[in-house]
Amino acid sequence: MSELLTKLSSNDCEIEKQFPMNRYITLKVGGNAEAVVYPRSIIEFTNILNNVYESGVNFLILGAGSNTIIQDAGFNGVIISTKKLRNFTISGNFVHAECGAMLSTIMKNTVKENLKGFEFAAGIPGTVGGGIFMNAGANKGEIKDVVEEVTIWHGGKVRKLHRNELSFEYRKCHLPEGSIITNATFSLKVGNKEQSEKNIKEYLEYRNITQPVNLANTGSIFKNPENIAAGRLLEELGLKGSEIGGARFSELHANFIVNGGNAHASDVIELIKKAQKMALEQRGITLETEVKIIEQS
Ligand SMILES: Cc1cc2nc3c(=O)[nH]c(=O)nc-3n(C[C@H](O)[C@H](O)[C@H](O)COP(=O)(O)OP(=O)(O)OC[C@H]3O[C@@H](n4cnc5c(N)ncnc54)[C@H](O)[C@@H]3O)c2cc1C
Repeated sequence: MSELLTKLSSNDCEIEKQFPMNRYITLKVGGNAEAVVYPRSIIEFTNILNNVYESGVNFLILGAGSNTIIQDAGFNGVIISTKKLRNFTISGNFVHAECGAMLSTIMKNTVKENLKGFEFAAGIPGTVGGGIFMNAGANKGEIKDVVEEVTIWHGGKVRKLHRNELSFEYRKCHLPEGSIITNATFSLKVGNKEQSEKNIKEYLEYRNITQPVNLANTGSIFKNPENIAAGRLLEELGLKGSEIGGARFSELHANFIVNGGNAHASDVIELIKKAQKMALEQRGITLETEVKIIEQS
């Protein structure tokens, strides 16, 4: 690890050592990462990926950290953050974006250009890379509907995958194991700015009254199982408002766990396990997490 950090420092990379991940991820829990590296260009990003890959050091890519839980013990390795890879351009109906571009910013700018298709992203606080990895979706749309091409780094090589080569499912994109998304191109349609703005306003108003937008959270905790929404199931199991330590299932939307201010990752994980046990024992339903809980190596 120290050899890798020396190499990255000598290449003038921006690094923060022993970074408290509760300051990074949206749920505001988690211990220190040994190091967080912030590439400032795609070339630097792929160079860092190559260096980290060759070193054999454990690593994790993070965008906005809005769908990730880091445990209290922290992260043993390097986090490569895409927060400084936010550039994108709009050319005709196409958007060419770096992986750290925020979905909401692309949405606002494409609507301004009279393009439609990105309104699904209203209220999703994630990046292009995290969005594609998760096949993020809401408001009757998913990112898969607009992805045209994805550029990936995979085992030291960079290549492009056309939409026909990608397979998406509910909150999942099947990429070759270990792929890192560096860029993406989206294909949108000519739209009506006023109509899109009206739709977005409605989507956000609905979120504001149905989701705990003022408390730290990480979006939906569980994927919806077949035949019932996860939130409804959790409510029926009596878990709405149920708490462990500083974490609780939101009173507003049971599929959100909120951090009352002093939650530990262990509180959140205990709540998740409690709900999974109750769902299985009382209803025979396996609840799969949507949020990514980073296991310690
Ligand atoms: C208030 C709130 C509301 C939300 N609402 C929704 C919603 O309506 N619909 C929805 O789908 N989600 C929702 N989410 C969840 C989350 O915003 C999305 O999953 C989002 O796409 C995650 O993006 P991110 O950049 O934050 O990903 P991160 O949390 O940073 O990463 C998520 C996963 O993607 C991987 N990853 C990130 N970047 C890359 C990359 N460049 N290449 C390869 N892998 C990568 C990470 O390693 C990790 O496994 C919500 C979250 C919050 C906090």
